This record gives sequence, structure tokens and C-alpha cells, in this order.
Amino acid sequence: MVLIQMRLREVDRLLEEASSSNRRVLTEYESKKIFKEIGIPVTREILAETIEEAISAGDKIGYPLVLKISSPHVSHKSDFGGVYLGIRDEEELKAACENLRRQADRQGIEYSFLVQEMAKPGQELLVGSKRDPTFGPVLIFGLGGIFTEILDDISIRLSPVDRQEASAMLREIRGRRLLDGYRGLPPVDLDAVVDVILRVSDLMESYDSITELDINPLFGYEDGVLAVDGLIVL
Ligand code: ADP
Ligand code: MG
Repeated sequence: MVLIQMRLREVDRLLEEASSSNRRVLTEYESKKIFKEIGIPVTREILAETIEEAISAGDKIGYPLVLKISSPHVSHKSDFGGVYLGIRDEEELKAACENLRRQADRQGIEYSFLVQEMAKPGQELLVGSKRDPTFGPVLIFGLGGIFTEILDDISIRLSPVDRQEASAMLREIRGRRLLDGYRGLPPVDLDAVVDVILRVSDLMESYDSITELDINPLFGYEDGVLAVDGLIVL
């Protein structure tokens, strides 16, 4: 994909930054910077080191917003108690930052504050990839949440895929009707989801150092998609 070729330099830099400091797991912030470089839409967000910085980040992003822990030691942020959704104003942001600080200090870990746009509700999807030692990158699509974790409702392909194969992945899951819109919810922009799968496939093909990639969730809308969380493992 021409788009990606033009932007590889910045992806190189981001990956190099992590590996030179001996980190295998990139933070959400770093992972989504890479997604953005390859043309996958991501939430607006600012990384802050202090509560004061977090509050001025909040002014720039606007309310309601989301506060998350950003730390190389925490990859499941909710399990850690590190995700605060629907923060309505500065006062709530300050309180959330203080809670987060208390929690992180108790565990004695390094961390920053990730201040992020609150995404409007969409269909929660998952796009991911794992590099198999024999077969190379395997691409995964699903509905995320319980559909993936409990019902194991995912579709899988070996990378690289073309547009046709990527669309077939969307139609193969048992919960596919949720993509067509139901009970008043609008249908999901399938072309935009296919586009994300193609870009992930390209990235995995171009970068051997990436062993695992997750966009969970990707919010699907009537018009476009938005990566709300991201994880890249080297
Ligand atoms: P975890 O590291 O636990 O997977 P996530 O960043 O995925 O953390 O956040 C947990 C959940 O919170 C997501 O699955 C999503 O439902 C919701 N969420 C996270 N970020 C946002 C956001 N910016 N806007 C709206 N909902 C969000
Ligand atoms: Mg997540």
C-alpha cells in the first residue's frame, strides 16, 4: 500500500525507541502512534507526566474524556484499575489522577497519565495479529468483549490478505448480524473495517520485529472506525 511506504520512517523510529530501551511491550500511546502513521484512525490523546500537565491536556482535548494509566508494566489497564471513563470536568479529572497515582505508587511502578478523547459509542470490534513461527502473521477479526473471550467467535486468515479475503473475514463470524445494525443501531462501515485489516496485514508483512498486535476495541461506526485501545509486542 503506497500510503504506508511513505510513512515507514516514523514507524522505524517508534519501534527503535522501544527496542533500544529493551522494552518488548509498547504502551497504548506508542502503539496507537504507529497505527496513526499507517492510516488507522485513533483517539486524540496526550501523555502527561504530572497532574498539572494532565489538567492542561484535559483543556486541550475537551470533556468528557478518559484517563488511563500509561506504563510499560501495565498492559491490561482495566484489571489494574487504570481506566477512568466519562470524566466530566477538571475536578473529576484531578480526582481520577490522584486515585491513579495512589494505586501506582502503592505498586511502586513508573507511570504517566494518558488523557484521551471519550469516543462516542460504537460497535466494539477487535482486529489483531500474531506472528506464528511457521506460518507468519495470522490475522484475527472479531466482535471483541464476551464474543471473543467467551464465545470464541473470531475469524482467522494467514497474512497477507486482499480486500476480498478481508471482507470474507467480516462475514464469517457468528455474530455478523451485529455488523448490519440491529435494534435501532446503525450498520457498521464495513469498508473502513476491511481497510484496517489490510493496513494491519501490511504492517505485519513489513515489520518482522512485531510479534503481536491488538486493536481491542476498534469502535465501528456508520461512517468510519476508531481505534480506542492498542497494543504492539516486539
Ligand atoms: P484495557 O487495557 O483494559 O484493555 P482499554 O483501553 O481497552 O483498556 O479500555 C477498557 C474499555 O473501556 C474498552 O474496551 C472500551 O469499552 C472503554 N474505553 C476505553 N477507552 C475509551 C475511549 N477513549 N472512549 C470510550 N470508551 C473507551
Ligand atoms: Mg483494551
